[in-house]
Amino acid sequence: MYAKVIVDIAHSQVDKVFEYSCPPETKVGCRVKVPFGGRIIEGFVIGVEDSSAFAAEKIKPVKEIYDELPALVPECFSLMERIAERYRVPKAASLRLFLPSEMRLGKVNEIYTRRVKYTGAEVTLSKSAKKQAEALEFLKQKGDIDFTSFSQKFGNGAVNALIEKGAALSYKVRRNRAPDYPESADGEKVLTPDQRAAVEYIENSENTVNLIHGVTGSGKTEIYLKIIADKLKEGKTAIFLVPEISLTPQMLAQLRARFGGQAAIMHSGLSAGERFDEWWRLRTGEAKIAIGARSAVFAPLENIGAIIIDEEHDSSYRSETSPRYSTVEIARMRAEYNGCKLVLGSATPSVESFIKAREGEYGLVTLTERINGRPLPEIIIADMRRELKRGNPSNLSRALREELTQVLNDNKQAIIFLNRRGYSQTVICTDCGYVAKCENCDVSLTYHSEENCLKCHYCGAKYRMLSACPECGGNRLRYSGTGTQRVVAELSQLFPAARIIRMDNDTVSGKDGHYKILKQFSEKKADILVGTQMIAKGHDFPAVTLVGILDADMSLHFSDYRSGERTFQLITQVAGRSGRAGDKGKVVLQTYSPENYILRFAVNYDYAGFFENEVKMRKAALFPPYSLICRVMVVADKDDKALEALKNVFFAIEEIRKGDPQEFIFFNKMHSPIKKIQNKVRYQVLARLRTEKYLPQIYKIAVENSTADALVYVEENPANLS
Ligand code: ADP
Ligand code: ZN
Repeated sequence: MYAKVIVDIAHSQVDKVFEYSCPPETKVGCRVKVPFGGRIIEGFVIGVEDSSAFAAEKIKPVKEIYDELPALVPECFSLMERIAERYRVPKAASLRLFLPSEMRLGKVNEIYTRRVKYTGAEVTLSKSAKKQAEALEFLKQKGDIDFTSFSQKFGNGAVNALIEKGAALSYKVRRNRAPDYPESADGEKVLTPDQRAAVEYIENSENTVNLIHGVTGSGKTEIYLKIIADKLKEGKTAIFLVPEISLTPQMLAQLRARFGGQAAIMHSGLSAGERFDEWWRLRTGEAKIAIGARSAVFAPLENIGAIIIDEEHDSSYRSETSPRYSTVEIARMRAEYNGCKLVLGSATPSVESFIKAREGEYGLVTLTERINGRPLPEIIIADMRRELKRGNPSNLSRALREELTQVLNDNKQAIIFLNRRGYSQTVICTDCGYVAKCENCDVSLTYHSEENCLKCHYCGAKYRMLSACPECGGNRLRYSGTGTQRVVAELSQLFPAARIIRMDNDTVSGKDGHYKILKQFSEKKADILVGTQMIAKGHDFPAVTLVGILDADMSLHFSDYRSGERTFQLITQVAGRSGRAGDKGKVVLQTYSPENYILRFAVNYDYAGFFENEVKMRKAALFPPYSLICRVMVVADKDDKALEALKNVFFAIEEIRKGDPQEFIFFNKMHSPIKKIQNKVRYQVLARLRTEKYLPQIYKIAVENSTADALVYVEENPANLS
């Protein structure tokens, strides 16, 4: 027998299939040890054949087979090809995605439990051996018992004697470490007519990909759960992806309540052992639903009946390390392979997805009502420029203070959200709301303190730092923001009796730090929760009737073509935390630019308006998806090595450009906005292309110029241009 093996070295020079002779029990999908270049290394068997085209003396034997049950399911090999081709990575690198890293590094301790079972063999025991007789009688009755408790009861000697005589057989079973999950008593619900229609639409849809656009609280989760339950009934499996699983303990509790041990959870908060065990439960078929963040898209399931991606617009679905895959793309490949549906859900679908839905590439389900006709919370705009003029320099507007007083009197809860990501990057005039923008690119500029200048991340243009506002002449320019701590201090001064908790990177620590804070809040042990991005997502706190959004502008002025989209999403998501149960919710949105159109659309929950406007703008300015931003990064220890690679990459792409200049809207090489990270220098070739036409060639150029001294890689429409 001959095994076709991919060696576990992710390098383009060994990115081929090698042949080894192997014993007949070798199975496709197993991991093996093979001799390679004078060493023994790990490899993956991707095929087994009776004969080989090579001469017998050229073929070396497989040294060891690891897995009794192949670690890789057959689907992996089909996906391996597609992923390797799409993201230009070696096949070994795409196969690695399917294995838990603990497994590859051989770090997992499997835990076994010893058991004893009755064999039915007739044995004669000596008359004096009373213990043995008792033990045998007990075993006959029970049939199959735990070794330890058995020998504790009757003594090791008696148990071993029974084993020796053949009446009992001792054997090992693998024991799974079961992670702890929060409890939930949440039962199955009777679907509303809208929910039922959505399930039917998706199950009968002609499209592989289907988008559910449903306002917050419209009951999307229940639709997902019904689809999963239907597929389990058909004997199939399912994958359910959520953005940041550690932030959504309630979702986990719900899934466990509904599906029990059939659900396996894959997330980074688990210990290595737990993670491996959950993976194993999926692989053996004991568990049928994989739940997790983006990497769960690689769950070792066969016969998949549905793949669900909740909050599909979330940026965490894109991998930021090689291979830089899009989870939606991989999920679609798997759905196509399995002939099943991919369901994307969001209250604020990404512009890209919504375009596809509108053009018919995706099926579309729209839910405009909250469950039980509950109203969406009213959003009140607080104009912070006016607050300043009226002599209120605090971070909390009058409107927000009044609403907070009300909430505390009514014994309800409030969430105060601070939009801190991207803080201290942009310069904003606190008098008129002016924001510095690039003359060429129509995106806001980023402040670089080390050079005291403003830069555009899309074209590299540099501007002098402003001393006064060019619009109104005011000199109250601001580029550093408020921290959560400061806000908590202000709140406790205003409301000394209120119980306030804070959730941000400083207060959250440990494996279940998020969970503890969220639990405290959901048990009403606090009145106000102050936090950053972490509290924006998916939580369902019934007693929350007020949400305050401080500095809604901050993401509006991200130096990113997606900043409008991000702001709209963020406001909608955060506002969606308010008034989810019986009581009507309110939202106070504080801003320095109340006339901004994005805020106007968000306040009215006008996704359609936002979308039309956004599409128009992107078309006019030629931003994605009407173009492709392609950044080739060069990262190296030494400047000269980086520059050499940069030059080679630049000139190789320049050759393409010369042949087809129309295709390149922008093209240049430059320092990356952050010039050094962890002592590695960073350069980039930045291109804005009309289409994806030259993308494969650019990937190829990057691979060819990546060396041990300089890492070169491609990013498509990167979420972050720093
Ligand atoms: P979404 O994911 O769309 O924001 P959820 O799935 O969290 O919405 O649902 C919002 C609320 O409505 C939850 O508290 C949920 O328990 C409840 N809910 C959903 N479907 C039903 C139903 N069919 N009957 C009663 N309550 C429901
Ligand atoms: Zn101004």
